[in-house]
Amino acid sequence: MLLNILIIQLRYYKYLLIDMNVLGTESCPQHVAIVGSGPSGFYSAEALIRSGLKLKINLLERLPSPFGLVRSGVAPDHPKLKQSIQVFEKIASSPQFNFIGNVNVGKHISIEELKQHHHIVIFTCGAETDRKLGIPGEDLPGSHTATEFIGWYNSHPDYRERVFDLSNETAVIIGQGNVTADVARILSKSVDELKQTDIAEHALDCLAQSKLRNIYVIGRRGPAQAKFTSKELKEFGQLKLCDPFIDPEELQLNNASELELAEKTNVGNKKVYEILQGYAAQTTHDKQRCCHFTFLKGPTSIIGSNKVEKVILEKNKLCGEAFSQWAEGTGSNIELETGLLFRSIGYRGIPIPGVPFDEKKGVFPSIDGRIIDSEKQTIPQLYAAGWIKRGPSGIIGTNRADAIATVSSIVEDLEHIQRDEEKKGAEGIYKALEERKVRSISFSDWKKIDQCEIERGQAKQKPREKFTSIKEMLAILD
Ligand code: NAP
Repeated sequence: MLLNILIIQLRYYKYLLIDMNVLGTESCPQHVAIVGSGPSGFYSAEALIRSGLKLKINLLERLPSPFGLVRSGVAPDHPKLKQSIQVFEKIASSPQFNFIGNVNVGKHISIEELKQHHHIVIFTCGAETDRKLGIPGEDLPGSHTATEFIGWYNSHPDYRERVFDLSNETAVIIGQGNVTADVARILSKSVDELKQTDIAEHALDCLAQSKLRNIYVIGRRGPAQAKFTSKELKEFGQLKLCDPFIDPEELQLNNASELELAEKTNVGNKKVYEILQGYAAQTTHDKQRCCHFTFLKGPTSIIGSNKVEKVILEKNKLCGEAFSQWAEGTGSNIELETGLLFRSIGYRGIPIPGVPFDEKKGVFPSIDGRIIDSEKQTIPQLYAAGWIKRGPSGIIGTNRADAIATVSSIVEDLEHIQRDEEKKGAEGIYKALEERKVRSISFSDWKKIDQCEIERGQAKQKPREKFTSIKEMLAILD
């Protein structure tokens, strides 16, 4: 691992030995477009700026607001995770950086146009949609994706109109990763625990009326394979209104799982297992709500005449060797009555016309960040970083190393790119947008919207009250 990082860093700093004329000059810089302004977009910009190359960066974003999942994915009660925004703002202050918000790549501007105006295009558009369970009843009203719920409570304009029926007493969440932990925690918390966060006002009003008493968190594999991190799982022991509940029987391990937990490098899962043991040992469950963690159960169908009424779960057993165990159905089913179900089984990227897409993995196929075609040949000019490159894994900081790795490939390739003075960079993009009457947003425009959100929050002692529609955001600038 250390050796890998060292090799990437060496490749990255190799530019020092390269003839700068090949790589751009003050009067004729290399133009780079980055598509998507989440962490990997900003970290790619940072790595490019730090490379010392003479270049100009255009960071394009579909929404008027930057920061991707840090703004609309990170849970409102985890403000520390949003501190990376300060780093992103510093990157945005570089004279080499230009933000072009409110522009949908693939719709307002094509990939061909981006290539025409830039030497390099990096896709950092993340994983915007969810994996499907592929079972009957998945799309019944009352069955939602985690993305919808998270977008809704985080004021994402795409999800503001979503309705979640919290008059139900039972909610079911399928999947046992950190996204599930966020969804379950927000459903479990009292309004008092949330009202001074940047949660959307509409979500707070709805959660205030919640009748939820039981929240079931369903894992298809066992407790040794749960994907929560210990920090996130621990929070369920500290909630005002909600007790965690686990049947101790469910923590029994097969031999392979025991081997997994005994492995020295598997500290994370061991800690998670110990926390689960602590919850199973808890004898009092007298709070208003209960969050049930249950294992070795896979959903086979969601039943209801015109909305979700129950979910059928097949009991599973684990098969295979330690660290590659999979869940297999035993044929024995249980039913869980619920009107509210969340599918939280991982994200996937969405295609953009003109860029190859791996349907199976939901990513843009690439080698060392260089996008490849169906023949595995690299496509000149096109690169990827972050979740659209490697799939949805890791924490915010993971995307920094990933962006540096992609930028090191770019630096290597720039040696072989013919300097093309015809590339117009931002000028070419703005001209095309003007012709199409697309209103773009600069970073200073965004800062005005940002300031306005902060002021709206002050009266409510919230860090900010986010705008929930693009129209509202643009109105601030008029
Ligand atoms: P994840 O960690 O990959 O978890 C997905 C869960 O869904 C796993 O329990 C998986 O079980 C289960 N699953 C997958 N397919 C399934 C199926 N067909 N049926 C039933 N269960 C299925 O994904 P995530 O929770 O979406 O998180 C994505 C990334 O964001 C992770 O790296 C996560 O740590 C990160 N994140 C971090 C934070 C934070 O730091 N606070 C917050 C949110 C997200 P198997 O293990 O059996 O596949």
